[in-house]
Amino acid sequence: MSSKTRQLAINGGPKTIEKTFPWPIYDESEVNAVAAVVAGGKWGNPDCGDEVERFERAFAEYCGSKYAITCVNGSVSLRLALMACGVEPGDEVIVPPYTFITTASSVIECNCVPVFVDIDPETYNISPAAIEAAITPRTKVIIPVHFGGLACDMDAIMDIAKRHQLKVIEDAAHGHGAEYKGKKLGSIGHVGSFSFQSSKNLTSGEGGIVITDDDELYAIMHSLRNVGRVEGGQWYEHYNPGCNYRITQMQAVLLSAQLKRLEAQTRKRNGNGLYLNGLLENIEGIAPLKRTEAVTLHGYHIYIFKYDASEFGGLPKSEFAAMLAAEGVPSFKGYPHPLYKQPLFQNKTWMCYAIPDTADYSQTHCPVAEQACDTDAIWILQHAMLGERADMEAFASAILKIQEAAR
Ligand SMILES: *Cc1c(COP(=O)(O)O)cnc(C)c1O
Repeated sequence: MSSKTRQLAINGGPKTIEKTFPWPIYDESEVNAVAAVVAGGKWGNPDCGDEVERFERAFAEYCGSKYAITCVNGSVSLRLALMACGVEPGDEVIVPPYTFITTASSVIECNCVPVFVDIDPETYNISPAAIEAAITPRTKVIIPVHFGGLACDMDAIMDIAKRHQLKVIEDAAHGHGAEYKGKKLGSIGHVGSFSFQSSKNLTSGEGGIVITDDDELYAIMHSLRNVGRVEGGQWYEHYNPGCNYRITQMQAVLLSAQLKRLEAQTRKRNGNGLYLNGLLENIEGIAPLKRTEAVTLHGYHIYIFKYDASEFGGLPKSEFAAMLAAEGVPSFKGYPHPLYKQPLFQNKTWMCYAIPDTADYSQTHCPVAEQACDTDAIWILQHAMLGERADMEAFASAILKIQEAAR
Protein backbone atom coordinates (compact mmCIF):
# COMPACT_ATOMS: atom_id res chain seq x y z
CA MET A 1 0.00 0.00 0.00
CA SER A 2 1.35 3.45 -0.85
CA SER A 3 2.40 5.64 2.06
CA LYS A 4 0.56 8.56 0.51
CA THR A 5 -3.18 7.89 0.36
CA ARG A 6 -4.73 8.41 -3.05
CA GLN A 7 -7.08 11.36 -3.45
CA LEU A 8 -10.74 10.39 -3.60
CA ALA A 9 -12.72 11.27 -6.72
CA ILE A 10 -15.25 13.11 -4.55
CA ASN A 11 -12.39 15.49 -3.60
CA GLY A 12 -11.20 15.95 -7.18
CA GLY A 13 -8.92 12.90 -7.49
CA PRO A 14 -9.05 10.44 -10.40
CA LYS A 15 -12.07 8.12 -10.57
CA THR A 16 -11.41 4.41 -10.06
CA ILE A 17 -13.80 3.56 -12.92
CA GLU A 18 -14.08 5.79 -15.98
CA LYS A 19 -16.32 3.59 -18.11
CA THR A 20 -20.11 3.75 -17.97
CA PHE A 21 -22.48 0.80 -17.99
CA PRO A 22 -25.27 1.08 -20.57
CA TRP A 23 -28.93 0.28 -19.88
CA PRO A 24 -31.17 -0.67 -21.61
CA ILE A 25 -29.19 -2.88 -23.99
CA TYR A 26 -30.63 -3.16 -27.51
CA ASP A 27 -29.73 -3.26 -31.18
CA GLU A 28 -31.50 -3.29 -34.56
CA SER A 29 -33.71 -6.20 -33.51
CA GLU A 30 -35.57 -4.01 -31.00
CA VAL A 31 -35.57 -0.96 -33.31
CA ASN A 32 -36.83 -2.96 -36.30
CA ALA A 33 -39.48 -4.79 -34.29
CA VAL A 34 -41.00 -1.57 -32.99
CA ALA A 35 -40.71 0.11 -36.40
CA ALA A 36 -42.55 -2.81 -38.02
CA VAL A 37 -45.46 -2.50 -35.58
CA VAL A 38 -45.63 1.25 -36.12
CA ALA A 39 -45.58 0.79 -39.90
CA GLY A 40 -48.18 -1.99 -39.71
CA GLY A 41 -50.65 0.36 -38.04
CA LYS A 42 -51.88 -2.21 -35.49
CA TRP A 43 -50.75 -0.54 -32.30
CA GLY A 44 -53.24 -2.16 -29.96
CA ASN A 45 -56.80 -3.39 -29.87
CA PRO A 46 -59.32 -4.35 -27.20
CA ASP A 47 -57.83 -7.83 -27.05
CA CYS A 48 -54.34 -6.33 -27.13
CA GLY A 49 -53.34 -7.88 -30.45
CA ASP A 50 -51.29 -10.86 -31.52
CA GLU A 51 -47.92 -9.53 -30.41
CA VAL A 52 -49.13 -9.13 -26.83
CA GLU A 53 -50.37 -12.69 -26.72
CA ARG A 54 -47.18 -13.93 -28.35
CA PHE A 55 -45.09 -12.30 -25.62
CA GLU A 56 -47.39 -13.58 -22.87
CA ARG A 57 -47.01 -17.15 -24.13
CA ALA A 58 -43.23 -16.78 -24.38
CA PHE A 59 -42.91 -15.32 -20.87
CA ALA A 60 -45.19 -17.95 -19.31
CA GLU A 61 -43.17 -20.69 -20.99
CA TYR A 62 -39.88 -19.12 -19.92
CA CYS A 63 -41.07 -19.06 -16.29
CA GLY A 64 -42.57 -22.55 -16.44
CA SER A 65 -46.06 -21.20 -15.70
CA LYS A 66 -49.35 -21.96 -17.41
CA TYR A 67 -50.54 -18.38 -17.91
CA ALA A 68 -49.20 -14.84 -18.19
CA ILE A 69 -51.22 -11.61 -18.41
CA THR A 70 -49.49 -8.34 -19.24
CA CYS A 71 -50.65 -5.03 -17.77
CA VAL A 72 -49.54 -1.42 -17.58
CA ASN A 73 -47.00 -1.75 -14.77
CA GLY A 74 -45.72 -3.82 -11.84
CA SER A 75 -47.95 -1.99 -9.36
CA VAL A 76 -51.22 -2.69 -11.15
CA SER A 77 -50.05 -6.30 -11.53
CA LEU A 78 -49.97 -6.55 -7.71
CA ARG A 79 -53.46 -5.05 -7.50
CA LEU A 80 -54.81 -7.52 -10.10
CA ALA A 81 -53.25 -10.37 -8.12
CA LEU A 82 -54.72 -9.17 -4.81
CA MET A 83 -58.19 -8.68 -6.28
CA ALA A 84 -58.05 -12.14 -7.88
CA CYS A 85 -57.10 -13.65 -4.51
CA GLY A 86 -60.51 -12.50 -3.26
CA VAL A 87 -59.43 -10.03 -0.60
CA GLU A 88 -62.20 -8.19 1.21
CA PRO A 89 -62.12 -4.80 2.97
CA GLY A 90 -60.12 -5.04 6.20
CA ASP A 91 -58.29 -8.24 5.27
CA GLU A 92 -54.64 -8.28 6.29
CA VAL A 93 -51.81 -8.73 3.83
CA ILE A 94 -48.33 -9.48 5.13
CA VAL A 95 -45.56 -7.51 3.41
CA PRO A 96 -41.90 -6.70 4.07
CA PRO A 97 -40.96 -3.10 4.94
CA TYR A 98 -37.77 -3.14 2.84
CA THR A 99 -39.28 -2.78 -0.65
CA PHE A 100 -40.76 -0.34 -3.14
CA ILE A 101 -43.90 1.51 -2.01
CA THR A 102 -46.42 -0.31 -4.22
CA THR A 103 -45.82 -3.70 -2.58
CA ALA A 104 -47.78 -2.16 0.32
CA SER A 105 -49.79 0.67 -1.30
CA SER A 106 -51.45 -1.82 -3.69
CA VAL A 107 -52.84 -3.42 -0.52
CA ILE A 108 -54.41 -0.12 0.52
CA GLU A 109 -55.83 0.36 -2.99
CA CYS A 110 -57.69 -2.92 -2.40
CA ASN A 111 -59.05 -1.56 0.91
CA CYS A 112 -56.91 -4.01 2.86
CA VAL A 113 -54.43 -3.61 5.69
CA PRO A 114 -50.70 -3.96 5.05
CA VAL A 115 -49.00 -5.73 7.96
CA PHE A 116 -45.26 -5.11 7.95
CA VAL A 117 -43.00 -7.88 9.20
CA ASP A 118 -39.24 -7.71 9.47
CA ILE A 119 -36.60 -9.01 7.09
CA ASP A 120 -33.87 -11.54 7.70
CA PRO A 121 -30.53 -9.89 8.58
CA GLU A 122 -28.56 -12.22 6.31
CA THR A 123 -30.67 -11.92 3.13
CA TYR A 124 -32.82 -8.78 3.60
CA ASN A 125 -35.79 -10.88 2.46
CA ILE A 126 -38.99 -11.30 4.49
CA SER A 127 -38.45 -13.54 7.53
CA PRO A 128 -40.68 -16.66 7.54
CA ALA A 129 -40.65 -16.69 11.38
CA ALA A 130 -41.86 -13.09 11.42
CA ILE A 131 -44.62 -13.97 8.93
CA GLU A 132 -45.82 -16.81 11.12
CA ALA A 133 -45.87 -14.56 14.20
CA ALA A 134 -47.98 -11.93 12.41
CA ILE A 135 -50.80 -14.20 11.19
CA THR A 136 -54.28 -13.40 12.55
CA PRO A 137 -57.76 -14.63 11.58
CA ARG A 138 -57.91 -11.68 9.13
CA THR A 139 -54.74 -12.60 7.23
CA LYS A 140 -55.46 -13.49 3.59
CA VAL A 141 -52.30 -13.03 1.56
CA ILE A 142 -48.51 -12.96 1.95
CA ILE A 143 -46.47 -10.88 -0.52
CA PRO A 144 -42.83 -11.98 -0.36
CA VAL A 145 -40.52 -9.71 -2.37
CA HIS A 146 -37.44 -11.35 -3.90
CA PHE A 147 -35.42 -8.33 -2.98
CA GLY A 148 -32.65 -7.41 -5.39
CA GLY A 149 -33.37 -10.63 -7.31
CA LEU A 150 -32.44 -12.90 -4.38
CA ALA A 151 -35.01 -15.66 -3.86
CA CYS A 152 -37.01 -15.65 -0.61
CA ASP A 153 -37.21 -18.82 1.48
CA MET A 154 -40.12 -20.10 -0.62
CA ASP A 155 -40.35 -23.60 0.91
CA ALA A 156 -40.94 -22.07 4.34
CA ILE A 157 -43.34 -19.43 3.00
CA MET A 158 -45.44 -21.91 0.98
CA ASP A 159 -45.57 -24.21 3.99
CA ILE A 160 -46.91 -21.39 6.21
CA ALA A 161 -49.44 -20.45 3.51
CA LYS A 162 -50.66 -24.02 3.22
CA ARG A 163 -51.07 -24.48 6.97
CA HIS A 164 -53.02 -21.19 7.32
CA GLN A 165 -54.83 -21.34 3.96
CA LEU A 166 -53.30 -18.14 2.67
CA LYS A 167 -52.49 -17.06 -0.86
CA VAL A 168 -48.92 -16.12 -1.83
CA ILE A 169 -48.26 -13.37 -4.37
CA GLU A 170 -44.56 -13.25 -5.25
CA ASP A 171 -43.47 -9.69 -5.95
CA ALA A 172 -40.80 -10.61 -8.49
CA ALA A 173 -40.29 -7.07 -9.79
CA HIS A 174 -36.54 -7.61 -9.15
CA GLY A 175 -36.55 -11.28 -10.04
CA HIS A 176 -37.00 -11.83 -13.81
CA GLY A 177 -35.08 -14.95 -14.78
CA ALA A 178 -33.75 -15.63 -11.28
CA GLU A 179 -34.35 -18.99 -9.65
CA TYR A 180 -35.11 -20.80 -6.42
CA LYS A 181 -34.13 -24.49 -6.48
CA GLY A 182 -34.14 -24.41 -10.28
CA LYS A 183 -37.61 -22.82 -10.52
CA LYS A 184 -38.06 -19.36 -12.00
CA LEU A 185 -39.12 -16.77 -9.43
CA GLY A 186 -42.80 -15.87 -9.73
CA SER A 187 -43.76 -19.44 -10.67
CA ILE A 188 -43.78 -20.80 -7.10
CA GLY A 189 -46.56 -18.88 -5.34
CA HIS A 190 -50.21 -18.65 -6.42
CA VAL A 191 -49.40 -15.59 -8.53
CA GLY A 192 -46.09 -14.01 -9.58
CA SER A 193 -45.95 -10.29 -10.33
CA PHE A 194 -43.28 -8.49 -12.41
CA SER A 195 -42.51 -4.94 -13.49
CA PHE A 196 -41.08 -3.89 -16.87
CA GLN A 197 -40.33 -0.32 -15.73
CA SER A 198 -37.15 1.14 -17.22
CA SER A 199 -34.77 0.20 -14.38
CA LYS A 200 -35.89 -3.44 -14.20
CA ASN A 201 -33.97 -6.43 -15.55
CA LEU A 202 -36.55 -6.90 -18.34
CA THR A 203 -38.00 -3.65 -19.60
CA SER A 204 -40.20 -1.92 -22.16
CA GLY A 205 -39.97 1.47 -20.45
CA GLU A 206 -43.16 0.74 -18.54
CA GLY A 207 -45.22 -2.45 -18.18
CA GLY A 208 -46.00 -5.36 -15.92
CA ILE A 209 -47.15 -8.97 -15.94
CA VAL A 210 -48.70 -11.59 -13.69
CA ILE A 211 -48.11 -15.33 -14.05
CA THR A 212 -50.10 -18.21 -12.57
CA ASP A 213 -50.91 -21.91 -13.00
CA ASP A 214 -54.42 -21.46 -11.59
CA ASP A 215 -57.28 -21.40 -14.13
CA GLU A 216 -59.59 -19.35 -11.89
CA LEU A 217 -57.01 -16.74 -10.91
CA TYR A 218 -56.08 -16.45 -14.57
CA ALA A 219 -59.67 -15.85 -15.67
CA ILE A 220 -60.24 -13.14 -13.04
CA MET A 221 -56.97 -11.31 -13.69
CA HIS A 222 -57.54 -11.49 -17.45
CA SER A 223 -60.97 -9.93 -16.96
CA LEU A 224 -59.78 -7.24 -14.53
CA ARG A 225 -57.06 -6.24 -16.99
CA ASN A 226 -59.65 -5.84 -19.77
CA VAL A 227 -62.36 -3.63 -18.16
CA GLY A 228 -64.19 -6.62 -16.69
CA ARG A 229 -64.88 -8.37 -19.99
CA VAL A 230 -64.59 -12.16 -20.02
CA GLU A 231 -62.93 -14.32 -22.64
CA GLY A 232 -65.51 -15.38 -25.21
CA GLY A 233 -67.95 -12.72 -23.92
CA GLN A 234 -69.41 -9.76 -25.78
CA TRP A 235 -67.59 -6.44 -26.23
CA TYR A 236 -70.26 -4.49 -24.30
CA GLU A 237 -70.58 -7.03 -21.49
CA HIS A 238 -68.68 -6.28 -18.29
CA TYR A 239 -68.76 -8.83 -15.47
CA ASN A 240 -66.10 -7.44 -13.14
CA PRO A 241 -64.77 -4.01 -12.15
CA GLY A 242 -61.18 -3.74 -13.36
CA CYS A 243 -59.99 -1.19 -15.84
CA ASN A 244 -58.17 -0.82 -19.13
CA TYR A 245 -54.74 -1.98 -18.00
CA ARG A 246 -53.63 -3.26 -21.42
CA ILE A 247 -50.20 -2.68 -22.95
CA THR A 248 -49.50 -1.74 -26.56
CA GLN A 249 -48.16 -3.90 -29.39
CA MET A 250 -45.02 -1.72 -29.43
CA GLN A 251 -44.29 -2.69 -25.81
CA ALA A 252 -44.98 -6.34 -26.59
CA VAL A 253 -42.48 -6.61 -29.45
CA LEU A 254 -39.89 -4.73 -27.42
CA LEU A 255 -40.39 -7.21 -24.57
CA SER A 256 -40.21 -10.20 -26.91
CA ALA A 257 -36.86 -8.98 -28.21
CA GLN A 258 -35.58 -8.17 -24.71
CA LEU A 259 -36.72 -11.56 -23.39
CA LYS A 260 -34.27 -13.24 -25.78
CA ARG A 261 -31.44 -11.50 -23.90
CA LEU A 262 -32.70 -12.15 -20.36
CA GLU A 263 -31.29 -15.59 -19.61
CA ALA A 264 -27.74 -14.73 -20.73
CA GLN A 265 -27.86 -11.40 -18.88
CA THR A 266 -29.11 -13.10 -15.71
CA ARG A 267 -26.32 -15.69 -15.89
CA LYS A 268 -23.75 -12.96 -16.44
CA ARG A 269 -24.94 -10.97 -13.40
CA ASN A 270 -25.08 -14.15 -11.36
CA GLY A 271 -21.46 -15.04 -12.23
CA ASN A 272 -20.25 -11.51 -11.57
CA GLY A 273 -22.11 -11.47 -8.24
CA LEU A 274 -20.42 -14.67 -7.10
CA TYR A 275 -17.06 -13.27 -8.15
CA LEU A 276 -17.69 -9.95 -6.37
CA ASN A 277 -18.77 -11.83 -3.23
CA GLY A 278 -15.34 -13.49 -3.18
CA LEU A 279 -13.59 -10.12 -3.51
CA LEU A 280 -15.67 -8.23 -0.94
CA GLU A 281 -15.55 -10.98 1.69
CA ASN A 282 -11.86 -10.15 2.07
CA ILE A 283 -12.46 -6.49 2.90
CA GLU A 284 -12.83 -5.73 6.59
CA GLY A 285 -16.15 -4.05 7.32
CA ILE A 286 -17.80 -5.25 4.07
CA ALA A 287 -20.10 -8.28 3.99
CA PRO A 288 -22.12 -9.43 0.97
CA LEU A 289 -25.62 -10.76 1.69
CA LYS A 290 -25.91 -14.50 2.16
CA ARG A 291 -26.84 -16.80 -0.72
CA THR A 292 -28.09 -20.23 0.26
CA GLU A 293 -27.82 -23.28 -2.01
CA ALA A 294 -31.52 -22.83 -2.83
CA VAL A 295 -30.54 -19.72 -4.82
CA THR A 296 -29.65 -21.50 -8.06
CA LEU A 297 -29.67 -18.24 -10.02
CA HIS A 298 -29.54 -14.73 -8.53
CA GLY A 299 -30.92 -11.88 -10.65
CA TYR A 300 -28.78 -9.17 -9.00
CA HIS A 301 -31.28 -6.47 -9.85
CA ILE A 302 -29.41 -4.99 -6.91
CA TYR A 303 -26.13 -6.33 -5.55
CA ILE A 304 -26.31 -5.53 -1.83
CA PHE A 305 -23.50 -5.53 0.68
CA LYS A 306 -23.40 -4.56 4.32
CA TYR A 307 -21.19 -1.72 5.41
CA ASP A 308 -19.64 -1.42 8.87
CA ALA A 309 -18.57 2.17 9.50
CA SER A 310 -16.28 1.16 12.38
CA GLU A 311 -13.86 -0.35 9.82
CA PHE A 312 -13.98 2.94 7.86
CA GLY A 313 -12.96 5.34 10.62
CA GLY A 314 -16.61 5.94 11.55
CA LEU A 315 -17.45 7.31 8.10
CA PRO A 316 -21.29 7.49 7.92
CA LYS A 317 -22.95 5.25 5.32
CA SER A 318 -24.36 8.13 3.28
CA GLU A 319 -20.88 9.69 2.92
CA PHE A 320 -19.37 6.33 2.01
CA ALA A 321 -22.11 5.83 -0.61
CA ALA A 322 -21.49 9.27 -2.12
CA MET A 323 -17.74 8.55 -2.30
CA LEU A 324 -18.31 5.16 -3.93
CA ALA A 325 -20.60 6.65 -6.57
CA ALA A 326 -18.04 9.41 -7.22
CA GLU A 327 -15.40 6.70 -7.83
CA GLY A 328 -17.55 5.54 -10.74
CA VAL A 329 -19.33 2.57 -9.15
CA PRO A 330 -23.04 2.72 -10.10
CA SER A 331 -24.17 2.50 -6.50
CA PHE A 332 -26.50 4.07 -3.99
CA LYS A 333 -27.26 4.12 -0.27
CA GLY A 334 -30.68 2.55 -0.89
CA TYR A 335 -33.92 3.31 0.97
CA PRO A 336 -33.50 5.95 3.71
CA HIS A 337 -36.12 4.29 5.93
CA PRO A 338 -38.52 1.34 5.94
CA LEU A 339 -41.85 1.70 4.17
CA TYR A 340 -43.99 2.06 7.28
CA LYS A 341 -42.32 5.44 7.96
CA GLN A 342 -43.90 6.85 4.80
CA PRO A 343 -46.52 9.59 5.40
CA LEU A 344 -49.11 7.32 3.71
CA PHE A 345 -48.94 4.88 6.62
CA GLN A 346 -47.98 7.26 9.44
CA ASN A 347 -50.85 9.66 8.65
CA LYS A 348 -53.27 7.11 7.18
CA THR A 349 -54.65 9.51 4.61
CA TRP A 350 -58.07 9.45 2.93
CA MET A 351 -57.78 6.12 1.11
CA CYS A 352 -56.97 4.24 4.31
CA TYR A 353 -60.51 4.03 5.71
CA ALA A 354 -60.41 0.23 5.79
CA ILE A 355 -57.46 0.28 8.18
CA PRO A 356 -58.68 -0.02 11.77
CA ASP A 357 -57.45 2.33 14.50
CA THR A 358 -55.70 -0.64 16.06
CA ALA A 359 -53.30 -0.67 13.11
CA ASP A 360 -51.05 2.18 14.25
CA TYR A 361 -47.97 2.32 12.07
CA SER A 362 -46.27 4.80 14.41
CA GLN A 363 -45.87 1.75 16.67
CA THR A 364 -44.42 -0.47 13.93
CA HIS A 365 -40.76 -1.34 14.39
CA CYS A 366 -38.76 -3.70 12.22
CA PRO A 367 -35.25 -3.34 13.66
CA VAL A 368 -33.45 -5.26 10.91
CA ALA A 369 -35.01 -3.15 8.15
CA GLU A 370 -34.25 0.03 10.13
CA GLN A 371 -30.61 -0.95 10.54
CA ALA A 372 -30.34 -1.84 6.84
CA CYS A 373 -31.66 1.62 5.92
CA ASP A 374 -29.78 3.62 8.56
CA THR A 375 -26.30 2.17 8.60
CA ASP A 376 -25.75 -1.10 6.74
CA ALA A 377 -27.04 -1.54 3.19
CA ILE A 378 -25.25 -0.33 0.07
CA TRP A 379 -26.63 -1.10 -3.38
CA ILE A 380 -24.75 -1.68 -6.65
CA LEU A 381 -27.18 -1.46 -9.56
CA GLN A 382 -27.95 -4.21 -12.06
CA HIS A 383 -26.46 -2.66 -15.18
CA ALA A 384 -23.08 -2.50 -13.43
CA MET A 385 -23.37 -6.24 -12.72
CA LEU A 386 -23.38 -6.78 -16.52
CA GLY A 387 -19.75 -5.57 -16.61
CA GLU A 388 -16.64 -7.73 -16.86
CA ARG A 389 -14.60 -9.44 -14.13
CA ALA A 390 -12.14 -6.51 -14.30
CA ASP A 391 -15.03 -4.18 -13.41
CA MET A 392 -15.86 -6.24 -10.32
CA GLU A 393 -12.20 -5.96 -9.33
CA ALA A 394 -12.41 -2.20 -9.84
CA PHE A 395 -15.50 -2.01 -7.59
CA ALA A 396 -13.52 -3.74 -4.82
CA SER A 397 -10.54 -1.40 -5.43
CA ALA A 398 -12.80 1.64 -5.10
CA ILE A 399 -14.00 0.40 -1.71
CA LEU A 400 -10.40 -0.20 -0.58
CA LYS A 401 -9.39 3.27 -1.76
CA ILE A 402 -12.14 4.82 0.39
CA GLN A 403 -11.17 2.64 3.36
CA GLU A 404 -7.53 3.70 3.04
CA ALA A 405 -8.52 7.38 2.98
CA ALA A 406 -11.06 7.04 5.81
CA ARG A 407 -8.70 5.23 8.15
C1 LIG B 1 -40.59 -1.52 -9.40
C2 LIG B 1 -41.29 -2.28 -8.36
C3 LIG B 1 -42.68 -2.40 -8.31
C4 LIG B 1 -43.60 -1.59 -9.17
O1 LIG B 1 -43.40 -1.66 -10.52
P1 LIG B 1 -43.83 -0.44 -11.48
O2 LIG B 1 -43.78 -1.07 -12.82
O3 LIG B 1 -42.82 0.64 -11.29
O4 LIG B 1 -45.19 -0.02 -11.10
C5 LIG B 1 -43.25 -3.23 -7.36
N1 LIG B 1 -42.49 -3.88 -6.48
C6 LIG B 1 -41.16 -3.77 -6.46
C7 LIG B 1 -40.38 -4.55 -5.45
C8 LIG B 1 -40.51 -2.94 -7.38
O5 LIG B 1 -39.19 -2.79 -7.32
